[in-house]
Amino acid sequence: MKIRIYPDEILLQPCEEIDEITADIKKFIDKMITFANKLDNCIGLAANQVGRSLRVFIVRSPRAVDFKVFINPEIISRKDIGRSIEGCLSEPGDVYSIRRSKTIKVRYCDIDGNEHVESFFKLASYIFQHELDHINGVLMRTKKKAKKLDQKTLTWR
Ligand SMILES: [Zn+2]
Repeated sequence: MKIRIYPDEILLQPCEEIDEITADIKKFIDKMITFANKLDNCIGLAANQVGRSLRVFIVRSPRAVDFKVFINPEIISRKDIGRSIEGCLSEPGDVYSIRRSKTIKVRYCDIDGNEHVESFFKLASYIFQHELDHINGVLMRTKKKAKKLDQKTLTWR
C-alpha cells in the first residue's frame, strides 16, 4: 500500500458506493488500518488515497487510540460555520484554512454493515468532512473557500 499523491487521477474522482461489505473489502479495510497505524500523525485515511475507489474512510478521533471505519458515510445535517487548519498526506507540505461546518450529524455503516447515526463537533467534525471530501474526489486545493497558508509562518498566502 502506498499513498497516492496529487495529481493522481484517483484522488479527483468520486468513489463508488459499497453495496456489499465483501471479505475482499474487509481485508482491504484491515490493510488500511495497519498501514495508517504505521504512518506518523495519521488521523484519517480514505480508500482512494491508497488506490481503491470505494466510499470508505478511517478516522482516529482526537484522543482515540483506534481507527474507526466509516462505510458509505453521509452528512444528514450541519450547523454553524468554522475554519479549520488542515494538511493532507496526498498534498504533502501544503496547509490550508478551510471553511467547514462546526457541527454535523452523519450516517454511515460500520464494518459489520450496521447503520449508525452520530454527531460530531469541531475537530472530529472537520476530520470527517476532510475524509468525506476525499471520497467525493475533492482535495484541499480544489475545495471552494479554502485558503492556502504559508506553512513557515502560517499567514495567509
Ligand atoms: Zn487528506
